Amino acid sequence: MGNILSNPRLPTALAVQEQGLLISRFHPEPPHAYRTPFARDCARILHARAFRRLAGKAQVFSRVAGELPGDHPRSRLTHTLEVAQIARSTAHALGLNQSLAEALALAHDIGHPPFGHAGERALDLRLRAHGLSFDHNLHALRIVTWFEERYAAFRGLNLTLAVREGIIKHSRDYAASSHPELGEYFLGQFPPLEAQLIDLADEIAYLTADLDDGLDSGNLHLESVREGVVLFRRHHDAALAAFPSAAPRLITQEALRRMLNALATDLMEEIARRVQQSGIQTLEQVRNAPKRLVSLSASMESDRAEAKKFLYANFYNSPVMEQAHAQAETVVSELFDFLIANPEHLPVDHQEQIPQEGLARTVADYIAGMTDAFIADLWRRTIHPHLEG
Ligand code: MG
Repeated sequence: MGNILSNPRLPTALAVQEQGLLISRFHPEPPHAYRTPFARDCARILHARAFRRLAGKAQVFSRVAGELPGDHPRSRLTHTLEVAQIARSTAHALGLNQSLAEALALAHDIGHPPFGHAGERALDLRLRAHGLSFDHNLHALRIVTWFEERYAAFRGLNLTLAVREGIIKHSRDYAASSHPELGEYFLGQFPPLEAQLIDLADEIAYLTADLDDGLDSGNLHLESVREGVVLFRRHHDAALAAFPSAAPRLITQEALRRMLNALATDLMEEIARRVQQSGIQTLEQVRNAPKRLVSLSASMESDRAEAKKFLYANFYNSPVMEQAHAQAETVVSELFDFLIANPEHLPVDHQEQIPQEGLARTVADYIAGMTDAFIADLWRRTIHPHLEG
């Protein structure tokens, strides 16, 4: 391990180079004098309206209905920035393309509907009744290629092919047979390492952040986290041993900080180890390897899986959160049904989409773009005006 850590850089050919097909855009643009194509894509995502709306979308806690315990829990925006930090550090350590990794991290949750996974479930369920489904990666692609309006000459952000490919391949692969419309995105091949690493940067960011937010909000208790999450306990014990007289909250922060660093460092080392072991030298070999190359080491992976299982059982699916999820599903489902029955309540630009996209998809697109506060307010005003604000 030691020699890998001192030199985890990968063969240069594994970093996506900013040239050729992967930097092609729907609408050709002259190169910028000072900025690379992926740096420009980072900026386009950061300046997008959908990116700003992440501030109003739930990560775990929603910003409405008095659910938010204090000012510090993550929103989907601050979560996104934490993922970007981990992705950038990992790409830098490995000699991969940092700007590409950063652009993909910034975009990775941009297609999420309001109310986190509960909202996504409800929207998907409603669409299935119309023979459709909701997929936040594909919705993200629609946002960056259609809904964002920043150019007079065309719709969308005109991102490079590499960024669009990475957006749809966030934590899943699509079969070419079921998605002929995605033909240009190298279906049947794995994405470059910069895209693969986003999945784990995401996991590392939310596991540690959600333990933090769960403890901070009182939804999780230190003793049960120590008992249920070996990775936390190990770093908590080490922090206690190093600072026996420090305040408990500082020991917790020290443990979480060390835990995040251990996960991210393991990720860097394991990617380097797997590349070295497999003898992979080129991007083509990454794409055609038997499986995705980005992974944690076996022991860290089992620690990660345990932490995730603990969070599901004790936090995400706890009775208190289940109540909020049920309410979120009611809001999304009722508003969906209402707009299907009363499409004249859709904004005019969405109504114009109906002939092309069909009513169900158009309603889903409108709802998916909403923040938690916007949808809660619209639901109350249009469907339950008698309820107290
Ligand atoms: Mg995420």
